[in-house]
Amino acid sequence: MNNPLIFNHNFTKNLPADSETDNHTRQVFEACFSWVTPEPTKKPQLLIASPETAALLDLNEEHCQSAWFTQVFSGNALLDGMKPYAMCYGGHQFGNWAGQLGDGRAIVLGDIINQQGERWSLQLKGAGKTPYSRTADGLAVLRSSVREFLCSEAMFHLGVPTTRALSLCATGDQVWRDMFYDGNPDDEHGAVVCRVAPTFLRFGSFEIFNSRQDIKTLKTLLDFTITTYFPHLIEDNITTETYAKWFTEVCGTTKDMIVHWQRVGFVHGVMNTDNMSILGLTIDYGPYGWLEDYNPDWTPNTTDAQFHRYAYGKQPSIAHWNLMKLAQAIAPLFDDVQPLQIILDDYAVQYKSAWQDMMRQKLGLNQFDEALVEALMNKLEIMETDMTIFFRKLANIEATDTPEACIQTISPAFYVDDWQNKANEVWHGWFEAYLGELQTHAVKHRKEAMNQVNPKYVLRNYLAQLAIDKANEGDLSTLHELFEVLKQPYAEQPKFEEKYAQKRPDWARERAGCSMLSCSS
Ligand code: AMP
Ligand code: MG
Repeated sequence: MNNPLIFNHNFTKNLPADSETDNHTRQVFEACFSWVTPEPTKKPQLLIASPETAALLDLNEEHCQSAWFTQVFSGNALLDGMKPYAMCYGGHQFGNWAGQLGDGRAIVLGDIINQQGERWSLQLKGAGKTPYSRTADGLAVLRSSVREFLCSEAMFHLGVPTTRALSLCATGDQVWRDMFYDGNPDDEHGAVVCRVAPTFLRFGSFEIFNSRQDIKTLKTLLDFTITTYFPHLIEDNITTETYAKWFTEVCGTTKDMIVHWQRVGFVHGVMNTDNMSILGLTIDYGPYGWLEDYNPDWTPNTTDAQFHRYAYGKQPSIAHWNLMKLAQAIAPLFDDVQPLQIILDDYAVQYKSAWQDMMRQKLGLNQFDEALVEALMNKLEIMETDMTIFFRKLANIEATDTPEACIQTISPAFYVDDWQNKANEVWHGWFEAYLGELQTHAVKHRKEAMNQVNPKYVLRNYLAQLAIDKANEGDLSTLHELFEVLKQPYAEQPKFEEKYAQKRPDWARERAGCSMLSCSS
């Protein structure tokens, strides 16, 4: 097979492997991974590939269209040098320690180092059972695979740190799923996504060893992690100080990621510690969603319907909580945990300042005005205002406009039909204040600057569902078109405005998949 991928076995060479090689569900001790082989599929078909992610691997269009590409990235064949494995990790799910989780349906095919010297790990999601599959089947359905593929790439183009998606293949197999856990299971099309990141290590990768008091493996893994992915932190050798620096960096990248989520209105939906990347990448696209009408208490995840633990407005504090769990996991490597506490406390300070700076930019101002921003969030909520459309339209306002004209400009963002009756009362005072700020504190080239942080195109929940509905019927046109449009989320693209930059239509308000999603995937 003519492929340029040269595999590097750093991870498996340097970390302890599960001594058992049979593929059956079990607890795996004192090991970071288990050897597994992807399950062959019936009739694999490449539905879409990302040329941008392919380029990271030095793969071109011709490679992506080759027969071997579909075979390999659906799990039917291995390339020379591939030695697939599943990673062992644990995690806190919805606030509770869940014990061993691990790659139950993800299989790492191997790591490569590209021509730029960058390390990339290639992982299939939905390629069959592993020792970590517990009672589940190791498979993924087309619906959730379309969501993962589209959203990873859309997030990248939005400038949000994320794992990437190389390919989406249909498997030709049927997968039995109870989409809403309501006793109505059905056959769905199976699919496999190949995702790509420097590493898929998570907070839970460290927690598992501390939970088992396996400090030896914990230290081996952390030393390996720092040497491989954070070499810039090492001065002469790895010391407790290096660990503290590492934790500082994880807090920093996590903070940056959350600020980006808040900026674009992304709600992850399942911020369990096993879904938190140690590189601060958005990982594990499950029942995620995008804020439409601004509501900090909103979560798309029906599994979280009772407590809204992972709602939009809670993401910053949940990230903090998750970082605390990571700190606890590595604490046995410290004589004194005080440094960890200081770094954790600093997260809150750093987050606040980064968030304020982000909000300042969204408003096109050169200084943050707390009262203005707080009032805005309140108004967006009580007036059911589409967050994406609001900020995009806000850039069109001129400092010389009247408050009435401003309300007219942003009115396409209102969900309520009778907005004319309420808008003046809700918005007049706020626009007076904002116009006042614009007179004195507008940034230079305000409109261009605002349009670089306020996207016009995001993967609205119902748009993903439209792509899925068609893909389920074998029509890939919306999947491909959306993929292209979302590559330029900040560009006007007038041709696509009507189709992809509108408020959520009424039919999508309560429809499954559009505003409500379960973890079933
Ligand atoms: P998630 O909620 O997707 O992050 O998954 C939590 C855990 O369940 C991870 O260990 C996954 O690997 C595992 N898991 C989720 N879905 C499946 C599946 N269909 N088969 C096997 N394991 C799964
Ligand atoms: Mg997960």
